[in-house]
Amino acid sequence: MTTCMKRFSRAIVIGASVAGCLSARVLARHFDEVLLLDQDTFSTDPAPRKTVPQEHHVHLLLNRGSAIIEALYPGFKDALLKAGAQEIDLSHGVKSYAGNAWKQRWPTGITAHYCSRTLLEFVLRQQATGVENVKIIDGVRVKGLLHDAGCINGVQVSIEGEARELEAMLVVDASGRSSRTCAWLKQFGYGDVLREEVANQLGYVSRIYRRNPARKPGWQVLLVTPDLPGRRNMGVISPIEGDRFMVTAGGWFGASPLPNEDDFMRFLAELPVADIYHEVIQLEPLGAFHQYKMPCSLRRRYDLMPNWPQGLLVVGDALCSINPIYSQGMSVSALQVEALSRVLPAFLRGDIWAQQVMRAQVEATEISWQQAKANDESLHPQAQRVGLKARLHARWLGVVNTAAYHNRDVAIATLNIANLVADKRTLYSLSVARASLFSAIARALR
Ligand SMILES: Cc1cc2nc3c(=O)[nH]c(=O)nc-3n(C[C@H](O)[C@H](O)[C@H](O)COP(=O)(O)OP(=O)(O)OC[C@H]3O[C@@H](n4cnc5c(N)ncnc54)[C@H](O)[C@@H]3O)c2cc1C
Repeated sequence: MTTCMKRFSRAIVIGASVAGCLSARVLARHFDEVLLLDQDTFSTDPAPRKTVPQEHHVHLLLNRGSAIIEALYPGFKDALLKAGAQEIDLSHGVKSYAGNAWKQRWPTGITAHYCSRTLLEFVLRQQATGVENVKIIDGVRVKGLLHDAGCINGVQVSIEGEARELEAMLVVDASGRSSRTCAWLKQFGYGDVLREEVANQLGYVSRIYRRNPARKPGWQVLLVTPDLPGRRNMGVISPIEGDRFMVTAGGWFGASPLPNEDDFMRFLAELPVADIYHEVIQLEPLGAFHQYKMPCSLRRRYDLMPNWPQGLLVVGDALCSINPIYSQGMSVSALQVEALSRVLPAFLRGDIWAQQVMRAQVEATEISWQQAKANDESLHPQAQRVGLKARLHARWLGVVNTAAYHNRDVAIATLNIANLVADKRTLYSLSVARASLFSAIARALR
């Protein structure tokens, strides 16, 4: 891919979190030096940090995301396991009450690595540090972009309170949802960036508890999700490294507890089944409650900008930040970076514009965005009545999802779709349709 390409001197990535570390691996193939700048300070062990408040809440890395990360950083999954993550079968290991029944559980071979986001990001950063021409510099806050005659030539930074300039041929903004790129572009005269917002009023409250490894409750993850759209509250007990559980409770459109003992326990007791409540009441808390609120999913359509400075790209949550309840964010970042990797050579040759790079990133994550959008819109308290096609699809989805509680093949098909490894059209494949209908008939006869 890169054989006929000349090498470039320096690229700067703003943010050394998930999207930043993934982008750095791709950039390192084309640039002599890749600087990953982060305003936070990193510890030599996986310690919580100030600027990623989401790390206090359950994070599940979907199969598609972990496959892309493994391809970028071979050995990533092993490193996670060595650092204390547990690999868990997403059917057999997860006791799940979904809607109005417990799901049957089977070994499916579809697994995920359960650990805290703090650990996941730490391991990822270690992998990035292992790339020869990638350098992570923490404690560096990017305060602006160096802009001259339609080109971004680097960044203005503040290091220990001192203002400095760092030059680069390419700047990649991976600074997360609160990215300042829109404001900077406006200041340079590029106008407003179109923001797509889908309301969800998500609220999460989470707390960490001690896990007794000797106790075998018959599940590794305990998940309760509601019968949508009538109820919007969910909860999960998820194992993390160091013999601990992370417990997250919350939901859509205001269905969320307050971050205190009484309200958290009340919320857990009022979930469709009280199993999480009965577990948590026996557990020893190991820390404070953490709350996270998000008004909407947000996509910034940089790809639609009529004018754009040379030498600037955007990736990760800074581009597209989706309701976290669908566990897609890190995988969406990975998909964006996979797209970046595909089109970067053409971009660096000058064959395509930055907007086309970001169009490729938007297209690579369109399915995730549309799935989350459709679901959140259907749950809105003032949801519009949808058309016949959407109603029929929702009906069929109900049939397939119910069959997935009882039929292993259908369960595998739905798991693959949720993990972004199979297309939604699989729901209409002959095998899934046949198994779903047989399952519905068998239940009706019983
Ligand atoms: C509550 C919650 C739960 C989630 N659960 C899941 C889940 O289950 N599964 C999943 O896949 N995803 C989940 N996500 C999404 C996931 O956290 C993100 O999508 C993913 O981490 C990608 O983020 P990012 O790397 O783009 O940005 P971030 O992780 O937000 O990192 C941005 C980085 O940029 C740095 N930075 C910011 N501004 C500057 C600056 N000016 N100068 C220098 N550095 C700067 C910050 O210090 C930070 O390190 C969840 C999100 C939330 C909010």
